[in-house]
Order: sequence, then structure tokens, then C-alpha cells
Amino acid sequence: MVKAFECSLADCSFEVRSEDEGEIVSMVREHAQNVHGMSMNEGDIKSNMTEMH
Ligand SMILES: [Zn+2]
Repeated sequence: MVKAFECSLADCSFEVRSEDEGEIVSMVREHAQNVHGMSMNEGDIKSNMTEMH
């Protein structure tokens, strides 16, 4: 099953899709840190993931 995460911060169009939740988490954390200068925890990221069918 493919999951997706879209960055919800203003003016940001970052989106990542993968079958690997762990990969999404690490990519989103890296994005949040590099682009927004903030850290996101795994729970926050997982709760904002959507499932693609
Ligand atoms: Zn972003």
C-alpha cells in the first residue's frame, strides 16, 4: 500500500509518496529541518499520512 504525505505549511508544495513508511518519515523530517528549520516527530508525520488506493 502506498502512503503519501503532503507538507501543509504555507506556500510549500512538498509531497512524498512511498510504500515504505519509514522512508516517508525520514524524508519528511529532513525536509522539515532543511526547508522549515523545524523538527517533526514520527507520530506527527504518521498521523498526517494518507493512504493511496
Ligand atoms: Zn514543507
